[in-house]
Amino acid sequence: MKIIKTINDMQSFSKQSMRSGQKIGFVPTMGYLHEGHISLVGEAVKQNDCVIMSVFVNPLQFGPNEDFDRYPRDLKRDEELASQAGVDVLFYPDVTEMYPKERTTKLTVQERVNTLCGESRPGHFDGVATVVLKLLQITLPDRAYFGMKDAQQVAVIKGLVDDFNVPVEIVPCPIIREKDGLAKSSRNVYLTPTERKEAIQLSRSLRAASKALSDGEINPERIKDIVSTYLSETSGSIDYVEVLAYPALEKVHVITEDVIIAVAVQFSAARLIDNIVALKSEIAIGV
Ligand code: AMP
Repeated sequence: MKIIKTINDMQSFSKQSMRSGQKIGFVPTMGYLHEGHISLVGEAVKQNDCVIMSVFVNPLQFGPNEDFDRYPRDLKRDEELASQAGVDVLFYPDVTEMYPKERTTKLTVQERVNTLCGESRPGHFDGVATVVLKLLQITLPDRAYFGMKDAQQVAVIKGLVDDFNVPVEIVPCPIIREKDGLAKSSRNVYLTPTERKEAIQLSRSLRAASKALSDGEINPERIKDIVSTYLSETSGSIDYVEVLAYPALEKVHVITEDVIIAVAVQFSAARLIDNIVALKSEIAIGV
């Protein structure tokens, strides 16, 4: 596996690969890799000739009181895991390489951000959109892989590539979970042992919601009540419980279309998110 640290070298590599007819798959991450990230690499390896992974903790997407400084980092371990998983190039720029000077143009995401994590983390998706657009211009992939763990991010990125005609296919990938259902996350290491046990309530609440939907519940408020009941059994504070049309992320009064049920819970040192997308075809509407 090659490690590339500069934008110039990365672009030259990608241009060369393109010229030799290779399809490039790209997996953007903030590192501290786990099976969730590795599953994206697995998909990318299947569908492309060359797989590029970026590891970059993007300061732009963290708020002033968020965990940028203490976000977990371990490049040596990431290198091993990425290489074992079949990554061909690890792109690992530092902050000054990505943001060398005050930017002359800024991106503001208009739609799909006034709810869920966008509402509780103002500016977060502007930072995500900025770094993803830069990384796509640097790595020049045919396909880019994103986890549905961050379903709002997928919706925002799809909007971004449509708006700016970026010639890349966005491939959403399923959420990878621990055996007990907790969605894998780099931030799970910050849960205390008690919180780690309580954290299974997130996926449990979503499973219960999913069952209620397939049993015919069409009222989003009742779905939210079911979810909140499970979450209130944790010591964390509920940041949000939402039922929204997906991917538009707009409110629904009656569930008759594809919806996302999404939660965020703040524990003492980790904020956890989880969601399920219930497809119209799977919902027993009015049964
Ligand atoms: P991050 O390093 O947290 O920015 O995540 C990088 C990519 O991995 C994003 O597209 C995430 O949605 C994805 N990802 C993170 N956790 C999981 C998971 N448990 N299952 C699937 N994808 C994930």
